[in-house]
Amino acid sequence: MNGDYHPAAGYETGDGVLRGSGLRKTIGRVKIIEALMAERRPLTGAELIALLGRDAMDPASVYRVLSVFTEREIVHRIDGTDKVARYALNRGRANHPHFTCRSCGKMECLDKITVPHLNVRPQGYVVEEENMFLSGLCARCNKKR
Ligand SMILES: [Zn+2]
Ligand SMILES: [Zn+2]
Repeated sequence: MNGDYHPAAGYETGDGVLRGSGLRKTIGRVKIIEALMAERRPLTGAELIALLGRDAMDPASVYRVLSVFTEREIVHRIDGTDKVARYALNRGRANHPHFTCRSCGKMECLDKITVPHLNVRPQGYVVEEENMFLSGLCARCNKKR
């Protein structure tokens, strides 16, 4: 997940992110980046499709774009404990925890926190992924209690 994609000033538009990635600009790609930027949290494919509106883009294209974005490390894919894939823009942060609120069900990238790299592993094993999932109540739901 440590890509060479480093968002910098000027990248904070759908256009800017695409230009930085070297991918060809299409309306669909720009729309998806902008939706992810506006929401500022990991979205499932279904949430993204609902946000864009079915008329705007057909679901198959949305998933195709998400898979290209994942390959190019424009987004990171989080396979949560519910086994539903979510996608969030990469903001230059390496491994960070993901928080899911049990009340509103929203997931957030806690990307100001870096997960320490675990150097301990059983001999002969290859670790391919490290995930840290936290759950509880988000600030908004906690306030409502
Ligand atoms: Zn919540
Ligand atoms: Zn994240």
